[in-house]
Amino acid sequence: MWEVFGHEKALKALTTGLEQGRLAHAYLFAGPAHVGKMTLAVNLAQAVNCREAERPCGECNACRRIKGGKHTDVQVVSRLADEGGRTKADISIDQVREFERQANLKAYEGQCRVFIIEDAEKMTTEAANCLLKTLEEPPPQVLLLLLTSKERQLLPTIVSRCRRIEMKPLPVSAVEQALQERWQAPPDKARVLARLSAGRLGWAMTAHLDNKVLEERSHRLARFIEVASAPRSQRLAYAAELAAQFGRGADSVDETLELWCGWWRDLLLVKGGGQRLIANVNLEPSVNDEAAQSELATIRRFLQSLDDAGRQLERRANPLLVLEVLMLSLPHRSKEREVEASPA
Ligand SMILES: [Zn+2]
Repeated sequence: MWEVFGHEKALKALTTGLEQGRLAHAYLFAGPAHVGKMTLAVNLAQAVNCREAERPCGECNACRRIKGGKHTDVQVVSRLADEGGRTKADISIDQVREFERQANLKAYEGQCRVFIIEDAEKMTTEAANCLLKTLEEPPPQVLLLLLTSKERQLLPTIVSRCRRIEMKPLPVSAVEQALQERWQAPPDKARVLARLSAGRLGWAMTAHLDNKVLEERSHRLARFIEVASAPRSQRLAYAAELAAQFGRGADSVDETLELWCGWWRDLLLVKGGGQRLIANVNLEPSVNDEAAQSELATIRRFLQSLDDAGRQLERRANPLLVLEVLMLSLPHRSKEREVEASPA
């Protein structure tokens, strides 16, 4: 049974390939973080190694070992941790060389060796060039699955040698339904988390199971709103703080920028009469208040600045400079207004 929820088009392409024995040797799963790429990749690794009539069965020894990360023929290549336990910024050439060495060995316990490269855009240029050789001359019985939320950062030569499977965010109603049916979330909580998730089921599920996710989200948003009413020196200090985080691996900065985009998009929606579509439903009174105090042109301008900053960071521009410019373009906010979250 395929565990991935939604993504019918992606599933159709893969199941057709499986049934006809025409799977590509390499796939690129492209889509936002927490949308379901890893779940689909693990499911596909099960499907090519499962011997039951309906693959993946999810029950046989191979399926269970693959799901538990214990199957010797299925490996996930991801960024390693440094000595302090923090995730490193890149996937190194040594990691790629090691999995290529293993890819040339015969499958040990299954039928097909599967290598899942998580955050494939994080490969160094040397690592990506090394991988290119394997993509050009793939060993038999090897399936490469590259996962990325930043496709534009991948070498075009890598993208062109993989079959591309796009994974878009799910409809909010589908996330709400999945939270209630699969994880027994209460209806009110499911509604709020589905809206906050912007269609990323993995995020919604994690936030449902771990309250810290929402706390962290509220903390980041509060910090940003506080900075909006702070003097220039504090804004620049905050930009420096974010740039330092970015240097240690960009994930948290990406999430912060996405969060801000969501907040400003909500202001735009309220201004444009799309109140019922806002994401920050747990902050609705504050969103309404902020929208009432902001000019439409100001909101648009700052959303454009956020978009520009995101693109520049993706193109590996100087992060400190990009974030300083962004902080200086943040519209000033009067201090009296408070933002309070209601419990999800
Ligand atoms: Zn099975």
